[in-house]
Amino acid sequence: MCFRPPGAAKAVKCPSCGCFNPPTLKKCKKCGADMPAENGSTTGGKETAK
Ligand SMILES: [Zn+2]
Repeated sequence: MCFRPPGAAKAVKCPSCGCFNPPTLKKCKKCGADMPAENGSTTGGKETAK
């Protein structure tokens, strides 16, 4: 059960718990899982593999 924040045009779905988070968050506000970064928005654009 989760709610979508008002005003957020785009919501990113958490791959872990399935909760919707604003694209500004890098980690899920609910479970704290690492959120998939949207390509073309952040600087660099190249994701560093672990
Ligand atoms: Zn989550």
